[in-house]
Amino acid sequence: MSNDLAVYAVRSDNSKGRLHRDDETAYRNQYQRDRDRIIHSSAFRRLEYKTQVFVNHEGDMFRTRLTHSIEVAQIGRTIARALNVNEDLTEAICLAHDLGHTPFGHAGQDVLNECMREFGGFEHNLQSLRIVDLLEKRYADFPGLNLTYETREGILKHCSAKNALGLGALGRRFLNNENPGLEAQIANIADEIAYNNHDVDDGLRAGLLDIDSLRNCKLVEIHFDIVKKNWKALTGGQLRHEIIRRMINYLVSDLIKNSNEQIASVKPESSDAVRKCARPLIAMTAETLAMNRDLKKFLRTNLYQHERVKSMGEQAKDTVRFLFNAYMQDKKLLTADLQNSMKDNDELNNARMIADYIAGMTDRFALAEYNRISGIT
Ligand code: MG
Repeated sequence: MSNDLAVYAVRSDNSKGRLHRDDETAYRNQYQRDRDRIIHSSAFRRLEYKTQVFVNHEGDMFRTRLTHSIEVAQIGRTIARALNVNEDLTEAICLAHDLGHTPFGHAGQDVLNECMREFGGFEHNLQSLRIVDLLEKRYADFPGLNLTYETREGILKHCSAKNALGLGALGRRFLNNENPGLEAQIANIADEIAYNNHDVDDGLRAGLLDIDSLRNCKLVEIHFDIVKKNWKALTGGQLRHEIIRRMINYLVSDLIKNSNEQIASVKPESSDAVRKCARPLIAMTAETLAMNRDLKKFLRTNLYQHERVKSMGEQAKDTVRFLFNAYMQDKKLLTADLQNSMKDNDELNNARMIADYIAGMTDRFALAEYNRISGIT
């Protein structure tokens, strides 16, 4: 496959390598191997029971972090293939991009960050990297999954200057204001396209959004009109899906066309030339970007800040805060393994281990721990 890639694609045989020495494999390139390690990791399996927007037990029809990640990978691969860049690398980044999410979605991360304020804070994106670099314990010779530089570069989507300083080569682009490779840029936008659209779907299905007010967003209105013109009587799930699949296609097509034009005008001759470009080359046209922003804003006001979503968030925050405080006060509430790894008089280390433990929990495990501990205390 890699023989046909564009000159600006990241190539498996030019990888900047892994943190630890690793054998070569016969049948897979470096990024296919990264992808397979991600799929086999326990953090990946746990995404199945982690909240995207709706808490996992709200209903079986809603997106979870796992199905979200699969949708991101599907969109990312389509874009990568169309632009003749590395589909395997894009897929690996997409599948791993949310590994560091806490239970209960953003509410969980916000409160864990508050709990960790004195101990260096908590950020889900950095946590994704921590999982693949350190926390997965599967291999005899190294901690983590020992992924390639390029997959790790893509996983670390954003990073503060303070955190970047501690990350060596991987942090440098945040200090030098450089971009990642095209595959990472694609994964980033594929994430956004996936969640905007599936949140419309889930929001409508849950009855928290209605199609008439959504039609105030031009992106929805255009595609609502097209569908209604062809199928006047269409309603419910079919109407919803016919609109959403067109919106995804519209955004992805615009992105591919515009990115192709940007690449053609800049003519980067290598993936490193892409990294040094002043701006990301993967981008929608200004007009489509504005429509996309509009929809995002609508979702923020009408879905993410909806009373029902907010009250789920409040319960989630109470659960995470309770667990963090309980474990900090009484280490005996933790697993034997964790208790053995704790160090007396090293609260910084102990707090980080507790944050890692809580961040790794599924929604239902966090609730079960809450019930177990509140039954004891
Ligand atoms: Mg995501």
